[in-house]
Amino acid sequence: MSDKVNILGVMVHKVNVEQASDKIIEYISASEGAKSVFTPNSEIIMAAYRDPEFCSLLNSSDLLTADGIGVVYASKIVKNPISERAAGYDIACRTLEKLAKLGGSLYLFGSKPGVAELAAANIERRYAGVKVVGKSDGYFDDAKEKAIIDDIKRAKPDLLFVCLGAPKQERWISAHKSELGAKVCMGIGGSLDVFAGTVKRAPHFYTKHGIEWLYRLMKQPSRFVRMLDLPRFGLKVLLKGRKFPQQKG
Ligand code: UDP
Repeated sequence: MSDKVNILGVMVHKVNVEQASDKIIEYISASEGAKSVFTPNSEIIMAAYRDPEFCSLLNSSDLLTADGIGVVYASKIVKNPISERAAGYDIACRTLEKLAKLGGSLYLFGSKPGVAELAAANIERRYAGVKVVGKSDGYFDDAKEKAIIDDIKRAKPDLLFVCLGAPKQERWISAHKSELGAKVCMGIGGSLDVFAGTVKRAPHFYTKHGIEWLYRLMKQPSRFVRMLDLPRFGLKVLLKGRKFPQQKG
């Protein structure tokens, strides 16, 4: 089987949470310079389908995982199936378990003021051994952005979580990763809110049945407009998905 599936031009790695977190720890141990990890869902893939520049930005990352049941279904439709989803938050948790054993360092960037502090306290308690070496909220002007970049450079974290929402976090990582001195930069959306406990993850029932999107919509009805991309994505994959070439072997 090939190791990536082409979904509307986005080359998603066929890895589960365990494999993705192993890969990230491998990047940290090898220390070969800044790596980037993104976790596209259906909405992000639709954005990439509309914007070829954003599509190449995603494809130039080191690891792209399938965040969302829509992407898993799409892989089956194009007959190059991914066995399960590998959501950003789950990969982050498993990676932190492994990073704790190495005594590795973490920088938290993103979300509203105060959230990264709460997330840092929970992470250091839950994953004893992980050192949170810096935190910044995700609302900035040019001057504050420069200060954030300087702070990350000072901290030189093994792992940097960038939680600005998509596509802002992917663009930010791509523009800055080479100057930050972080070994791995991960764009993981609303995950800091979940680590902080300010937002609850969908209960197991919703994730098990592939309807986490419904839970998020009920909690945050303002997501409705962006969620219209879900049926558009399904339709696009059904009509055009098989025209995108799959890797062989
Ligand atoms: N956010 C931020 N800066 C911004 C816009 C958003 O830090 O300029 C944060 C926001 O506070 C939230 C996260 O980015 O914590 C985005 O969450 P969302 O659930 O929308 O992201 P998704 O996981 O759906 O990509």
